Amino acid sequence: MPHMTGGCHCGKLRYAVNADPIFSAVCHCKSCQKQTGTAFRVVAAVPRPAVSVEGLSKTYTRTGDSGEPVLNRFCPDCGSTVVIEPTALPTLTIVPAGTLDDTSWLKPSMEIYCDDAQSWVWLGGDERRRFAKMHDERG
Ligand SMILES: [Zn+2]
Ligand SMILES: [Zn+2]
Repeated sequence: MPHMTGGCHCGKLRYAVNADPIFSAVCHCKSCQKQTGTAFRVVAAVPRPAVSVEGLSKTYTRTGDSGEPVLNRFCPDCGSTVVIEPTALPTLTIVPAGTLDDTSWLKPSMEIYCDDAQSWVWLGGDERRRFAKMHDERG
């Protein structure tokens, strides 16, 4: 049984992750704002080898703030991005958490790219660590 499953809005592009997330975060970056059309995106970072994708996808490549490409795999029919692969972080795949089949267990432990957060956004609830830019596992 995979640890997590999810997919695009129309259901044709599906994924499974056979590992627990390394971290989950609220991302306030401009790309997340632009791509979702809203103020932030909740993401789960998972080990890349644990991810399997099923169905047709298209890839949109943008330049991340590392200067390296970031690959967004999305459904050509409904446009939902289901998997994000930053070249600068080759061991990680980012899953937009809203595409998970079950989000009930998910509790983002940090907020990243807070420098780009919309001024009115203040999320209540549990304490989350806040980072101006990317959270870096290397410290
Ligand atoms: Zn779709
Ligand atoms: Zn982001």
